[in-house]
Amino acid sequence: QARKRFGQNFLHDKGVIERIVRAINPKGEDAVVEIGPGLGALTGELLEAVPHLQVLEIDRDLVPILRTQFFNYPQLRIHQGDALRFDFRSIYDGRPLRVVGNLPYNISTPLIFRLLAQADVIGDMHFMLQKEVVDRLAAEPGSKDWGRLSIMTQYYCKVQPLFGVPPGAFRPQPKVDSAIVRLIPHQVLPHPAKDVKLLATLVRTAFNARRKTLRKGLEQVVTDAQWEAVGLDKRLRPEQLSLADFVKLADLLITDGGSDAEALAGADERRSEA
Ligand code: SAM
Repeated sequence: QARKRFGQNFLHDKGVIERIVRAINPKGEDAVVEIGPGLGALTGELLEAVPHLQVLEIDRDLVPILRTQFFNYPQLRIHQGDALRFDFRSIYDGRPLRVVGNLPYNISTPLIFRLLAQADVIGDMHFMLQKEVVDRLAAEPGSKDWGRLSIMTQYYCKVQPLFGVPPGAFRPQPKVDSAIVRLIPHQVLPHPAKDVKLLATLVRTAFNARRKTLRKGLEQVVTDAQWEAVGLDKRLRPEQLSLADFVKLADLLITDGGSDAEALAGADERRSEA
């Protein structure tokens, strides 16, 4: 019986499973970590390529099932726990982690943010996600999908949408279309911010007022003089700014002194309370 609260939709289409594993292309010594192995649909295929697989599953009842199913793979390490709290650095041994998973869709955004914060120990990530989320990850400035998730993901990673997966590939079938995406953390950040927390807060604050002009949405944070100094048109809407634009703006708020950064933190808090 699949558990709704854990977002359980199990893959059963062999062709799709093989296609995903081919896209991951796991090699013998790779440090692969699977989030949410479920009943082991991907796990079994992955184990054919990498004996030292680690998996992380929240549902206690699935752990003995996995242990039984894969009893002849003694090098499989099964962690029972919540991926949203898991410290991926604790299993890092110098080999960049290759994170994979058919993710529970109800927690995919916070999970991606959590993984981005640990991107320094991650070589790449392959995820099955709601197609709409993949569209947001891969979005370009100016499109309706461009927002906080696109910007913060592209700050840390190169995003490659791979292929779509229809509901019929799962049991039970989800109500939405799915897609596979590859995220590769940048070795060198293309647009490094002086303070990434400030950048994240700025982006969140700006997109809280997605339909307003930047001047209005950030009026407590960015002064007219600062809009002049940064050379961005304050009549634009947040979705028209690129990642580089947001980084430039965040950096200006720091060099101009701490008070703007504080105003920003305050503005963000007031909004999230509302
Ligand atoms: N990989 C399996 C497959 O493709 O058939 C299962 C995929 S199912 C969409 C998501 C899996 O993630 C379930 O096994 C669920 O119990 C597990 N899960 C849900 N929330 C989790 C969390 N916070 N941490 C770790 N695993 C979680």
